[in-house]
Amino acid sequence: MEHVSSLSLLQTPAAIVDRDKLQRNCDRMTVRAQTHRINLRPHLKTTKAAKIAEIATKQHFGGITVSTVAEAFYFNAHGFQDITYAVGLAPHKLPALAALQKEGAHINILIDEVAAIHAIDEAARNLQSTFPVFIEVDSGERRGGVSPDGQQLLDVAAGIVNSNSLTIAGVLTHAGHSYTGTTTDEIVEIAEQERSGAVLAATRLRGMGFDCQTVSIGSTPSVSHAASFEGVTEIRPGVYIFGDMQQVALGTCGIDDVAYSVLATVIGHNHGARRILVDAGSLALSKDGGRGPGANLPTYGRVATVDGRILPGLYLSTLYQEHGLIASKWEEPPYDSLPIGHKVRLLPNHSCLSAASFDEYFVVQNGSQITEIWDKTRGW
Ligand code: PLP
Repeated sequence: MEHVSSLSLLQTPAAIVDRDKLQRNCDRMTVRAQTHRINLRPHLKTTKAAKIAEIATKQHFGGITVSTVAEAFYFNAHGFQDITYAVGLAPHKLPALAALQKEGAHINILIDEVAAIHAIDEAARNLQSTFPVFIEVDSGERRGGVSPDGQQLLDVAAGIVNSNSLTIAGVLTHAGHSYTGTTTDEIVEIAEQERSGAVLAATRLRGMGFDCQTVSIGSTPSVSHAASFEGVTEIRPGVYIFGDMQQVALGTCGIDDVAYSVLATVIGHNHGARRILVDAGSLALSKDGGRGPGANLPTYGRVATVDGRILPGLYLSTLYQEHGLIASKWEEPPYDSLPIGHKVRLLPNHSCLSAASFDEYFVVQNGSQITEIWDKTRGW
């Protein structure tokens, strides 16, 4: 951890969070959840930081979503007890989660297969633990989950009810295909698939006499654009807390709302190729592609000044492991205003993947003075 007060003195690459923007993004989602009277259980796989979890859960019931065992341990150590581990469970992870349960945590797990029930039930019984289970429903993404209108939903529910160590917490779905929406109308339609799929599954379960308290949905694009939340009790968006260039393209936030960026240093000028080189590549920024600026060029992100002002026309054209190349949508990039050693802030397309590689966040409030350093977790 470094003890410097200004971004311009920091080692690079470094992960930067603008606290005011982050707060605004959280406030927007809070209003959305409260307006629709649904619980917000933010997914913390994006941000992985206790301080951010505190901000995101303020005014909510305190439940969180995680995607690694490391996150479950880290957040539990910081006082978060109601945790959904929202990835289909490999039975060998159960001892770690059972240890957390024994310390007082309440860990919800996901199941979508009868065969998985047997393996997980046996492992839980050996550990003398019990687990509440969300039945994962596929609302169109075609990743994990049972079909909301198929027999497997009922078979999985029966398997859980007949197990020794598992109980049904509810149904859970994630409309990851909301990221493929090319217009707001398409995303609204996908959000409705997500809602109606989860509600159908819950209605069928209840109709057959199964308990199904929670109906949990959520991706940032779907919950940001959804027209209705009828029948839903909980949402689990995550990337809304930071935003990124992908979210800007999907219309869930504006470029001025992006609270996360990567600080980098100019390390070269390639006049022949008309590129400016920086010391942040795909390990720091992720290699998820996008389009922009304006001219619909393939890009890995946008470029801002060290105090966060977007530099018009500049974009990341190419990423290597540790190098990034900045190009201009006009003829030449501005070599004179970005000399060697100068610092810039880069706004990646996908903040979840970018942030995962850093150990801490340097926090600013509308400028380049570091006001706080927030620790975070990483790894599995
Ligand atoms: N729930 C699950 C199961 C997820 O896998 C994810 C993200 O991948 C989310 C919620 C959060 O969605 P987003 O990243 O769009 O905020």
